[in-house]
Amino acid sequence: MAGIKFAAPVADLNEYKNVFVFLETREDKLMRPALEMIGVGKRMAEKVNEKLVCVLLGGDIKDQAKEAVSYGCDIVLGAESPVLSTYRTLPYSHIISDFVRQEKPNIFLIPATRNGRDLASRIAVSCQAGVTADCTELDIEQDTRILSANRPTYGESMLAEILCRKHRPQMATARPGIFPVPERIKSHRGEIRIKEVTVDKSMLKKQVLEFRKKEVVDLTAAKVVVSGGMGLGKPQGFSLIGDLASELDGVVGATRPSVDMGWITRDHQVGQTGQTVRPRLYLAVGISGKIQHIMGMKNSETIVSVNTDPNAEITKYSDYVITEDLYKAVPVLLEEIRKLKKSPPLQVQETSSTPAQ
Ligand SMILES: Cc1cc2nc3c(=O)[nH]c(=O)nc-3n(C[C@H](O)[C@H](O)[C@H](O)COP(=O)(O)OP(=O)(O)OC[C@H]3O[C@@H](n4cnc5c(N)ncnc54)[C@H](O)[C@@H]3O)c2cc1C
Repeated sequence: MAGIKFAAPVADLNEYKNVFVFLETREDKLMRPALEMIGVGKRMAEKVNEKLVCVLLGGDIKDQAKEAVSYGCDIVLGAESPVLSTYRTLPYSHIISDFVRQEKPNIFLIPATRNGRDLASRIAVSCQAGVTADCTELDIEQDTRILSANRPTYGESMLAEILCRKHRPQMATARPGIFPVPERIKSHRGEIRIKEVTVDKSMLKKQVLEFRKKEVVDLTAAKVVVSGGMGLGKPQGFSLIGDLASELDGVVGATRPSVDMGWITRDHQVGQTGQTVRPRLYLAVGISGKIQHIMGMKNSETIVSVNTDPNAEITKYSDYVITEDLYKAVPVLLEEIRKLKKSPPLQVQETSSTPAQ
């Protein structure tokens, strides 16, 4: 093809070793997607007897590096400079591309957050690699060490498996909220290699003046999500959903059409183009269960749906189905939950272990 230069295949694939993951931080804390990357990266590294290497940049990253080790990281490759305390495209991509060229990872995983997407494409171009974006399943073939990067395609109706046989590193971004956070084992030992770096002024074209926090809901960390859909029929329906969510100490989710209608803000959207959640309880109220919504909530522990249509798609994914008009069912649910909360807690009586005479 005219004008496009293709990278030459890597001559010796065995030169490339270990699974690298990028650890994104915010306000000096490892973000949840960073921990998810550690979990999935560790599983793959163990499968092929390689190391999990975590790449961490920031102003002062010693504590985060130790934390990463306690979650399962074998080596932390870090770079410290005051200007790295907030994410910036140029210095981050430059420093990490250098790490990649020096260390030659077989696999490099980056969370598909806003910054992660920005970073992955820069590193890939700089290191002449490709990226499989927004993966929902990741695995490694034991014999060949080839990354099996799976991502939904055709409006989430199919799953495409993308293999990169001849180029290295094999890069992928992973959709946040899909992969579980690994257990923290404080006794786990790892090697921490942090170097201080000086960032060239030419890379600091943008100045960060201040951060203004936008009040947005974080659905990904919620234990209970109560979502409303078009079955609500009107924007006011979301106040009923809000009541149920707050009684259950949960947060409000929504389907895309209800967001598009302006009934609720976009940060509440669950699904392919919204957030991916995996709460202990997901209540789907007036939601049909189209695949694009299901993709965002199917990993919830328990799913309860309220729908007038007994054959709605959502019922296939539900552990409990309430076939009823939501405006009748939800007030009853609310009443029962409030009654339960008022009633005294169950007393557990200790029984004697002495056998009855
Ligand atoms: C590329 C692409 C990306 C998309 N991304 C997303 C996404 O991220 N998230 C998302 O949600 N959608 C997404 N969609 C849209 C998706 O395909 C569906 O259109 C959407 O999920 C349906 O929303 P809904 O369930 O609220 O509405 P509907 O499909 O209209 O379902 C409403 C349901 O409410 C029930 N109902 C009606 N009245 C009542 C009542 N009184 N009581 C109880 N039940 C009642 C009905 O039986 C019905 O099952 C995407 C689509 C495309 C093409």
